[in-house]
Amino acid sequence: MIGKQAVVIGAGMGGLAATGALAGLFERVVVLERDELPAGAADRQGAPQGRHNHALLAGGQRALSALFPSFEQDLAQAGAVPLRVTADFCTEMPGFDPFPQRDLGWHVYSMSRPLIELTVRSRVERLPNVTLRSRCRARTLEASGHQRAAAVVGVRCEDAQGRSETVPADLVVDASGRGSLTCDLLEAVGLQRPEATVIGVDIGYASAVFAIPDTASADWKAVLTMPQAPESSRGALLLPLEGGRWMVSIGGRYGEKPPGDAVGFLKFAGQLRTPTIYNAIRRAARFSEVARFGFPASVWRHFERLQSFPRGLLPFGDAICRFNPVWGQGMTVAAQEAILLRRLLGASGGDARALVDLVPAFFTEARSMIESPWRQAAVPDFVMPETEGERPPDFENQLRFGGALARLAAEDPDVHKLVAEVRHLVRPSSDLQAPDLVARVQALMTRG
Ligand SMILES: Cc1cc2nc3c(=O)[nH]c(=O)nc-3n(C[C@H](O)[C@H](O)[C@H](O)COP(=O)(O)OP(=O)(O)OC[C@H]3O[C@@H](n4cnc5c(N)ncnc54)[C@H](O)[C@@H]3O)c2cc1C
Repeated sequence: MIGKQAVVIGAGMGGLAATGALAGLFERVVVLERDELPAGAADRQGAPQGRHNHALLAGGQRALSALFPSFEQDLAQAGAVPLRVTADFCTEMPGFDPFPQRDLGWHVYSMSRPLIELTVRSRVERLPNVTLRSRCRARTLEASGHQRAAAVVGVRCEDAQGRSETVPADLVVDASGRGSLTCDLLEAVGLQRPEATVIGVDIGYASAVFAIPDTASADWKAVLTMPQAPESSRGALLLPLEGGRWMVSIGGRYGEKPPGDAVGFLKFAGQLRTPTIYNAIRRAARFSEVARFGFPASVWRHFERLQSFPRGLLPFGDAICRFNPVWGQGMTVAAQEAILLRRLLGASGGDARALVDLVPAFFTEARSMIESPWRQAAVPDFVMPETEGERPPDFENQLRFGGALARLAAEDPDVHKLVAEVRHLVRPSSDLQAPDLVARVQALMTRG
């Protein structure tokens, strides 16, 4: 054991994964969650994104399985739908309608975000040294010392009756999503706030749940329809959920955001680049209202660039980086950060000094972990001319490389498998820079 008590703020996917990592390293872990947590797989106020499609990439599924052994069986028992990658997935992108649907030899599960969260939360609740306090809002982080000497010693929180208390902690993980508690604390102890890289994408989402009709296609279980960018930003994702349902999320950017009414939803689906999703749902029974969500910008806070950071505090998950949700990376990166946290603290053999070294080591490794998914999302985001932010200097080249790589992947199953593994965050994107692969892609780029 490395310390007496760790406190995790937020029982979302980041907080739950971090708790799984910390439970074996601290005598007690206390999780503070402002929401009343539902007994079943239901939406809740603090995670409004749960009403929209949440794809769990293979990298996230593997990380959660490493934290919670037999997690995949838990998902399957709860009704999650297995999807063979990429055989069950109809991906429609300009030039490939659809992209070849090969069986690459592995599968992922598809389910609602509330079910993923419930499955992980049930495992966390079974950990004997973990206390999950719902309806308990963290108000401030308590610190001793100032500037370079600052150390976080606890969390001031408030329960549903308005009673305040300070929960002491050797380590506080801020998995509250926004990271404002961490940034406020930095200011309070006289330290700088982190710089942020921001990509303004201004996306509007709308989602609804449908009964899977008897007439559903046997050629796919899920469909992704990508837009004809930059002419249009309209895209959609249909995923199967537990309970014989589909969730359809449609989205557009800037002046092309979808409406929030059922008639408008179907009309928008009918204006996608291909009719596959519209045809699937136009006669299907709708189970839910249409839910909307606005996502203005991807934000990466560069804590790793700060000269000083308070001891005993670790921002986590979305509090470090909020990815453009279109690429389905946030839960996976949060789960992989939890594996990193466990590795860094676990390697110390219980030496409490590891808590001092943890934060800089975590920030350094998390930076390279985040870089690959961030870049994967940023390049296609910048195709839209309205996207705000700094385009990579070799943007045009990266775009052409990506296009040629997709053509190669369509022809060659081995390249397809490699690209899918990078996309699912199972392998780093540096694996796409192998000299023989680059030479083949460049040959295609030269041919045009
Ligand atoms: C529309 C949309 C679609 C998305 N789709 C995908 C997808 O397909 N795949 C994917 O991997 N990711 C997706 N994401 C991202 C994903 O939801 C997050 O990256 C992931 O949940 C990790 O977030 P987190 O735990 O850091 O924060 P959250 O999941 O937001 O959890 C934060 C938690 O902290 C609690 N909280 C906040 N403040 C306090 C406080 N002061 N005290 C106590 N509790 C507090 C909240 O109630 C909440 O439970 C999507 C996001 C959006 C917005």
